[in-house]
Amino acid sequence: MDVRGFAAYISPMTIRTRFAPSPTGYLHVGGARTALFNYLFARKHGGTFVLRVEDTDEARNTDEARQAIFDGLNWLGLSWDEGPQNGGDFGPYYQSERKAIYDTWFEKLRVADRVYEDGGAWRFRFERKPITMHDLVCGDVTIDYRDESNTPDMVVKRSDGSYVFHFVNVVDDLEMQITHVIRGEDHLMNTPKHLQLIEAFGGEAPQYAHIPLILNADGSKMSKRDAGAAVGDYPRQGFLASAVVNFIALLGWNPKTEEEIFSLEELVNRFSLENVNRAPGRFDLEKCKWVNQQHLLGLSVEDFASAAKPFIEAADLPIPENYHAIIAAVKEKVRLFSDVPAAVDFLLKDDFACDEEVITKVRGNVASKNLLGNLASAFAEVPDWSADSAKAALNETAQSAGAKPGQLMFPLRAALSGRGHGPDLGDLLNLLGKERCVERVRNFSQIL
Ligand code: GLU
Repeated sequence: MDVRGFAAYISPMTIRTRFAPSPTGYLHVGGARTALFNYLFARKHGGTFVLRVEDTDEARNTDEARQAIFDGLNWLGLSWDEGPQNGGDFGPYYQSERKAIYDTWFEKLRVADRVYEDGGAWRFRFERKPITMHDLVCGDVTIDYRDESNTPDMVVKRSDGSYVFHFVNVVDDLEMQITHVIRGEDHLMNTPKHLQLIEAFGGEAPQYAHIPLILNADGSKMSKRDAGAAVGDYPRQGFLASAVVNFIALLGWNPKTEEEIFSLEELVNRFSLENVNRAPGRFDLEKCKWVNQQHLLGLSVEDFASAAKPFIEAADLPIPENYHAIIAAVKEKVRLFSDVPAAVDFLLKDDFACDEEVITKVRGNVASKNLLGNLASAFAEVPDWSADSAKAALNETAQSAGAKPGQLMFPLRAALSGRGHGPDLGDLLNLLGKERCVERVRNFSQIL
């Protein structure tokens, strides 16, 4: 049977995946992607998604890092069925609380004479034979343990009594009955060691799927300091969780269609390990912003308005009565919630900044000053203010000066907003209302 197709034959109820982060920093997009793929695979097959905190390295673990993992997963909507906070039948889910379990498993190795003391530490005796792993993404990987100089017996228990990563990781995957280990490619070469241990325990090995690295857009290796690396930064930068999930999914998984925009639910339905790429994913923050914009388009005005509100308040801008109408006018023009304050400030206050380039451009058109002066007077005479009646006044003003209405469009936009592009001109006229439009057009004509 083709090994890559094997997952499909497993009874859905048996699937158990886990995300096993070490809480040593913030939640990285690479970690979030590992969590996501484990989540998607478990959900797709009606299985169980376990969160296990690999916090045996006490010197490097912090409470903040633990919290960042929970917050990041919760924000992304990747709820775990078993783990910290939720409990489960295979706990505790913190490795730091599982010492007694590890001691029991270590004892099995000792009784079987698979470990020996070496300078206070304990080494695991590898079986001297080739070990082949069938990886669901990477294919077959073989390590030949016959050459002892290349593969010395590994320490599993340190002289201080603590256990190494390989040992606790394997014990927990067996104890927690994990069926599929989906993790970063950086662990690919560890896996034959894990298979050696599993064999020594007489356990049944899970299926492995090692997912490719994430590179920066320029092909360099993504580091912790790169922009976009920390999941915790995304909410305050104005991203939607659903968009970040969508973007992260595409970093290493190929939907095999032209479509790129998916909700979490759609990802669950479409995900398969067969379509995980072999080649590294390219992290492109611009692409992430584009994906975010596509998700923003799907929000109702109400949802968009309430999510954008904290960003507007943080920019010290007031929330006016026509706030929802304002949001409706700019909603499709921004990529991030954090773009909203700059996109609407001129609608919320009168002392907004004017773009110098725009002023220069309007000044270059000699007719603008007089035309705008006339337009201000015409606006002031409009009895029943609306986008249509204002536009009619604009047409008349242009015609009586022998100009084309189009000549007034850009200067009018500049006068009302201080910038060269933005919401539809009709929306601007409606949202600002007669008084403000008259005043802005008049003031602007005077500075030209
Ligand atoms: N704690 C390991 C890590 O964060 C887990 C590796 C695994 O998923 O097996 O890299």
